[in-house]
Amino acid sequence: METRRPTNPAAEEIQVLYLSVLDHGFVSLVDYMGSDEDVERAARVSYGYGTRKTSETRGLIRYLRRHRHTTPSEMVELKLHCAMPIFVARQWVRHRSASLNEVSGRYSLLPLLFYRPEAQHFQQQSATNRQGRSGDSLTELYGDAIGRWDDVRRAAGQQYEWLVSHDVARELARIDLPLSTYTQWYWKIDLHNLFHFLAVRADPHAQLEIRAYARVIAGMLKRVAPLSFEAWADYELGGTHLSRGELEALRRLVRVQGRDVEARAGERLAEADLATLGLSKREVDELLIKLEAAPTVEDFDLDPATARPAEEFARAMEAAVPRVDRR
Ligand SMILES: Cc1cc2nc3c(=O)[nH]c(=O)nc-3n(C[C@H](O)[C@H](O)[C@H](O)COP(=O)(O)OP(=O)(O)OC[C@H]3O[C@@H](n4cnc5c(N)ncnc54)[C@H](O)[C@@H]3O)c2cc1C
Repeated sequence: METRRPTNPAAEEIQVLYLSVLDHGFVSLVDYMGSDEDVERAARVSYGYGTRKTSETRGLIRYLRRHRHTTPSEMVELKLHCAMPIFVARQWVRHRSASLNEVSGRYSLLPLLFYRPEAQHFQQQSATNRQGRSGDSLTELYGDAIGRWDDVRRAAGQQYEWLVSHDVARELARIDLPLSTYTQWYWKIDLHNLFHFLAVRADPHAQLEIRAYARVIAGMLKRVAPLSFEAWADYELGGTHLSRGELEALRRLVRVQGRDVEARAGERLAEADLATLGLSKREVDELLIKLEAAPTVEDFDLDPATARPAEEFARAMEAAVPRVDRR
């Protein structure tokens, strides 16, 4: 049956395909509603699909995003099926402006699948960023860490299996499963809130594991609403906000002459000058980072050829469920 709903061929191509993330996780675009045209249509509150040129739609969408007129973008929605370790889910679920339904550990037996970081990502606590990791891979420690992870997970899995095999309630049996255990959910979110999610979770400062998911979702979004995606990448992901003090610092270095911008001859701002503009040492550090290098904005392109069938993931999940359920 033909549909009169707006669809996007690039999104149709990946719809219901399952893209692998981390060692046992995935993201699948189950469904979507709307595209760039719906953002435009809502903004203009217009009747039906007219003969607007792509360039006009693009111009409007970029204007809306620059000026934070965000409600039109709420007219587009994505529905995803995702599997992720619980510690990733915990960061993810902080984004409250979405609808989700997670697998119930009270009702279902959970697959005993645990996330193991790859050797290259096994790094030490960062000295500069208290929330992150940095430096070379801790290769010498990695083997021991794997052994210890395996011990803990085997014990937790055996305890889970023992409890459910004695018919202890599943809601109790699960309580010692580690944060590395995979969970899964359906997640539905509109474009406005998804942009916020991606801004913080696809950012290089986000934890590597949730970022892996955000990158795939960004690639899906790019196929659903490419013009909105482009505007977001230009103004938010690859752009930055400037504080009053930061803007003042730039104004001391350059000036507007008619339609041109020119450098003020001989101007230089030392750190002490920046401090007089009210910038703290940390703000100065952040300003330097903003100005030093243009951030590399990934293209987030997805390769549908890397997708695997839903059944493959379903089988892997099923195989990892404790045997007691299969008596
Ligand atoms: C680098 C980083 C570190 C973080 N560290 C921590 C941490 O240590 N501990 C922690 O708990 N969280 C942490 N978070 C989560 C963070 O505080 C936010 O909860 C998360 O980024 C979601 O943002 P949000 O609340 O704007 O999004 P959503 O929950 O999706 O909300 C979207 C928008 O809706 C509005 N909104 C939603 N709910 C309310 C409300 N109740 N009242 C008013 N307005 C509302 C706000 O405008 C909000 O921006 C961290 C996030 C990042 C990116």
